[in-house]
Formats: sequence, structure tokens, C-alpha cells
Amino acid sequence: MGVFEAIDAANGGATEHEEVLFASDPVSGLKTIIAIHSTALGPALGGTRFFAYRNEDDALTDVLRLSRAMSYKAAAAGLDLGGGKAVIIGDPSEMKTERLLRAYGRAVDSLGGRYITAEDVGTTTEDMMMIMRETKWVTGVPAAFGGSDDPSPATARGVMAAMGTVATRLWGTDDLSGRTVAVQGVGKVGRHLVERLTKAGAETIIADVNQVALEDVAASYGSEIIDPEDIYDVDCDIFAPCALGGAINAETIPRLGCAAVVGSANNQLATPEDADRLIDMGILYAPDFVVNAGGIINITEELRGYSWERAAHAVDGIGPALSRILDRAETHGINPHIAAEDVARERIATVGSLRVRRRTDAGGK
Ligand code: NAD
Repeated sequence: MGVFEAIDAANGGATEHEEVLFASDPVSGLKTIIAIHSTALGPALGGTRFFAYRNEDDALTDVLRLSRAMSYKAAAAGLDLGGGKAVIIGDPSEMKTERLLRAYGRAVDSLGGRYITAEDVGTTTEDMMMIMRETKWVTGVPAAFGGSDDPSPATARGVMAAMGTVATRLWGTDDLSGRTVAVQGVGKVGRHLVERLTKAGAETIIADVNQVALEDVAASYGSEIIDPEDIYDVDCDIFAPCALGGAINAETIPRLGCAAVVGSANNQLATPEDADRLIDMGILYAPDFVVNAGGIINITEELRGYSWERAAHAVDGIGPALSRILDRAETHGINPHIAAEDVARERIATVGSLRVRRRTDAGGK
């Protein structure tokens, strides 16, 4: 398959990506692909994934898919940002050096701000500091350097806002006290979420493959522990996937004993049809990329001088944004995942074309 064919295939056959940069540095072994899916709403922001891909085709497919998802996430969250992503091919524990990160920083810089990077799987805030020596188009740096630091508290806050919206629709109040929430994965986001749920008076049932994290969270918040294999079967009000993607699938959906699925994990649905399967089970699904946008909303605040107060206020907007998406799903008789994608696409088309016109107007003066 040719490169352009591969790019179109990642978008279901349509030509969507604006630009894909392949860059290398033979001295450090850097091989990177930076994909800019869309800058219609603003610069393309997305993390740098440093990963030992099986081959270059897998790396290209991943960066194309992830950059597209970032466009939708930013658009649905109402941000003035486009979607982009970068991958560095290789094992970070063997390949990560100052030279490699700085060479990568130069590749980012060459795009002149059309792509802004951040951390992702295999990269850290410290790496962002190194990349920053070569380019200013970096976010996710430590608080001491004016950055927004760990996005997880903001992400958990956004999940809570989404749960409030879902609770209002299902039970007529956003009060979660007395409700039971099953949290799959008590890592960075899951832990903050359990803390917030506990403060809100909810009971939590938690599962994690990491025994240390599990026991620590249970001891701190009085959560009930359950085996990771059994988390799908628990009787609860809300199931919150906060671990890996694909948790909601044809095998797990019939087991769910919840009224709603609201969690932080990316790509929760194994296939798009799973959103319909949830409807058939009478379960309300809050689309993952709307629910978990707190992290990117938080990082966006870094671009204009970081303030947690401003970030928190913006993150709380996830509640009303989700409400509008669920209304749309109901009105049009479509599942919430499709409704969220429609909202994102519409905003990219309508607001995006407004920006282009402005630029043209200015150019004509
Ligand atoms: P994390 O790695 O800190 O936590 C994930 C936790 O899930 C870990 O404790 C891990 O042991 C556990 N886990 C792995 N497999 C499991 C299984 N089979 N059953 C139960 N637990 C399992 O990651 P995180 O930053 O908390 O992110 C959680 C999810 O939310 C990820 O899908 C991530 O992509 C998504 N997300 C995170 C953020 C953020 O701000 N960190 C933002 C948006 C989306």
C-alpha cells in the first residue's frame, strides 16, 4: 500500500490528514512520524508516544488513528485546537537519549507551531523539558516551569462532571451520595476519581491488576476490592472504565449490571457497534472522548499562562457538553458515540471555515 493510501485508509478511505512528517536522526537513531490531522480549529495538539512498534506500518497506523481522535476530542470539548499526534519508534528504555529528544524537538519546531506536543505513553514531563530546549511548541511541563503538571486530577474532575450529568438524566439529581460506582483501574485517574466519589458520598468497588495500588486506594477510601475478572459482573449504578481500552465489548456488555458507563479510559468500545449493544441493554453510555477531555482542557490552559482555577472551570464544562450530546442522541435516535462524533465534525466544519475566512479577509487588506 502506498503512503497516501495508508493515510486515507486510516480515515475510512477519506483524505483527512493535512500533513504527515517523517523525520530521522541517524546519530541518535531517531525515527519519528508526526501526524497533523486537522488545524481547522487551531494548532494540532497531541502527545508524543515513544513505543517499540512491531514495524513502521503499525507506527503509521497508530499515529494516524490517534491524531484523528485528538481532533474529535478537542472539537467536542469546545477547544480552539486541532488534532495531532507523534510517535517515536523504538524502546524508550534503550533508545531515549538527550540527542534523540533534542533531534525530535527540532522536528517539532520545523512545523512552526502547527503541531504542539505533550507527554504520552513512553514520555515524561522531564522529556518535555528536554524537547523544550529545541522548541517552544511543548506543553505538559512541570508546574515549576509554568506548566500544568499531571493532567490526572483534571481528568478525574471531568469524569465527575460527566457522572453528575448522567445521574441527573437517570435519577433526576446530580447527587451521587448512596450510589455505587465500580471503578476498573485505580491508577492516576482512577485514584483521584475514587477520592472524589468518596467525598460525594458514593460507595466504590475497585479492581486493578496492581495489588499495591489496589490495597492503598481501598485503605484510603474504604473501597470494596473485587477481582479484575469479576468487575463486569458487579451490581452497581455506574461502571467506570479507567484502565485500558476495549473494556466494553460483545463479551463484557451482557455481564454489566450498571445503569451507565462513565469512565476515563480511551477507546472503551471495542467496536462502534458496542454503543448500540449498550442501548439494547438499557445502559446509558457517556462517550469516552467527551468524558476524559479534562486532561487536554487542562493542558490547553498552559498555552495562555496556566491557572488551575481557570482550568477547573473549563473542565466543569464537560457536564453541560455531555448533556447536549445526550440530548442530540435522543432527538436523532442515534447512539451517544455517533452523536458526539457528529458534534465534533460539525464544529470542525462550521467554526473551522469561519477561521479560514477571517484569515483570507485579513490577507486581502
Ligand atoms: P495509569 O496507568 O496510571 O492507570 C491505569 C491503571 O489500570 C493501572 O493501575 C493498571 O494497573 C490498571 N489496569 C491495567 N489493566 C487492568 C485490568 N485488566 N483490570 C484492572 N485494572 C487494570 O493510567 P491513567 O493515567 O490513570 O489513565 C487511565 C485511562 O484513562 C487510560 O486509558 C488513559 O488513556 C485514559 N486517560 C487518562 C488521562 C490522564 O489524565 N491521565 C486523560 C485522558 C484519558
